[in-house]
Amino acid sequence: MDYYSSHIKNLIEELGRLPGVGSKTAQRLAFHIISLPEERVEKLAETIVSARRNIHECKVCHTLTDREVCPICSDPARNGRVIMVVENSRDLAAYEKTGKFDGVYHVLQGAISPMLGIGPNDIRLKELMVRLQEPVDEVIIATNSSLEGETTAMYISKLIKPAGIKVTRIASGVPVGGDLEYIDEVTLQRALEGRTEL
Ligand code: ZN
Repeated sequence: MDYYSSHIKNLIEELGRLPGVGSKTAQRLAFHIISLPEERVEKLAETIVSARRNIHECKVCHTLTDREVCPICSDPARNGRVIMVVENSRDLAAYEKTGKFDGVYHVLQGAISPMLGIGPNDIRLKELMVRLQEPVDEVIIATNSSLEGETTAMYISKLIKPAGIKVTRIASGVPVGGDLEYIDEVTLQRALEGRTEL
């Protein structure tokens, strides 16, 4: 039955496509948006469009940035010979918050998942291999401890080790299946300090 006008229905549908938004939340958000003053809604829409338009991957580490090279990659105080490999920019942000890592990052923009049909060529692995042609002291693999994260870690380690580069994996103080971005800073710091060589 059609309770709502098609405008409301479309809005609920669009919002419901966002990750973590169920149909109840989508309805609540839609009615909230409709109740806002028009200028606020315009500002919200503009902010979304402008973020999408101006954000792209850093050409070195592939994190999301509005510059050609992100602030971390262009910071001369960072140690470019230690590269921490993470799945996404949110994980990078989680490690940056600890303030304990002075190396640089490589953001894979995903993880290998045979179940979802995501293979090594679908993430930024080739780009990592290109970076490793420069002198590198250590590659720290900080993918999540989910099945996908572990699969990716194993794959990368097998790929890199023949090159004679030291490869380490963050300690499993990180709960199994845990998303890095939700883990507190102390746990992340311990995971980094307790990393083991692969
Ligand atoms: Zn970068």
